[in-house]
Amino acid sequence: MPTNQRILLASRPSGFPTEANFELVEGPVPEPGEGEVLVRNHWLSLDPYMRGRMDAVKSYARCVELGEVMTGGTVGEVVASRNPRFAVGEFVNGPLGWQLYALSDGANLRKVDPARAPLSYYLGVLGMPGVTAWVGLLDIAQPKPGETVVVSAAAGAVGSVAGQLARIKGCRAVGIAGGPAKCDYVARELGFDACVDYKAGRLLDDLKAAAPAGIDVQFENVGGEVLDTALQLMNPFGRITICGLISQYSATEPYPTRNLRSVLVNRLRMQGFIVSDRMQLWPQALAELGELVAAGRIKYRETVAHGLANAPRAFLGMLRGENLGKQLVKLV
Ligand code: NDP
Repeated sequence: MPTNQRILLASRPSGFPTEANFELVEGPVPEPGEGEVLVRNHWLSLDPYMRGRMDAVKSYARCVELGEVMTGGTVGEVVASRNPRFAVGEFVNGPLGWQLYALSDGANLRKVDPARAPLSYYLGVLGMPGVTAWVGLLDIAQPKPGETVVVSAAAGAVGSVAGQLARIKGCRAVGIAGGPAKCDYVARELGFDACVDYKAGRLLDDLKAAAPAGIDVQFENVGGEVLDTALQLMNPFGRITICGLISQYSATEPYPTRNLRSVLVNRLRMQGFIVSDRMQLWPQALAELGELVAAGRIKYRETVAHGLANAPRAFLGMLRGENLGKQLVKLV
């Protein structure tokens, strides 16, 4: 008899989370009821938004309750089905959580084709992070050829795709990432025009040198000092896409932004978005990303942890920047 493993939220973090905030439990594999499918998860996605779900604060989505399975996107195989829409052996992507087996009524499942792309891609470039990059850049910021687009957390899942899309649209793409190895990857392998190491301690000067004509679009994944510095270099009528603020997710004090004046004097548009609000754009985004990946025009890397038990450590590592590209857990 196979055993199910699940990772529950055991306690709420104060500040940066620890492995003690999670608990691994074992139990029987559930049986699907009428209209349900049982999915054996092969891959679990680890994403920054999960840090927010650990806190009991008002947000765009409800938090994970104590003792509840941690929320998360997975790709897995249907191993039992009492739902006519899904056959055993089909692969699906859905929000099935940090667990080896999960039941679903099928409403939130998307079928994926393992012949078209590796299964893990449906959690990255051909899934939520890829669509986030596409929506945040093309729908929200709408860069024009020749403009300078700066992308923070540029070596990560969303940032790496956003910067490559900017290049494809004829923009100058400048990344910001932590450390020389990540900057080397962003500039040499991903083909950004430049990449600035924010950990080197000269962010304003280095960003000025990398964006000599100023910044037209800031694709913001980090917030805090990174965003505050970019504000100083924005061109008139620039756009700032607030995709994420990862430097602030575990902060106990709000960052004292100093350069908001730039929004006024430069008549900037600063807009936040949540990718799940824009479901109507997903089919187009996924179709375009699929073609670009197949053609080798978007390059893509993954950092893979093995086994559900290692998910908490890998999650904390991702929050600290130990990942290059998309952080995943291989479950099978
Ligand atoms: P990444 O793969 O980019 O991983 C997170 C990265 O954040 C780390 O690798 C690290 O890179 C960087 N980071 C962590 N802490 C800091 C810090 N204090 N200062 C600067 N950089 C830091 O994750 P994703 O691509 O999945 O997510 C990127 C952003 O996009 C996140 O903010 C996330 O919340 C947001 N997002 C928003 C969505 C939306 O709908 N609006 C949907 C999906 C993601 P480094 O080593 O370079 O520091």
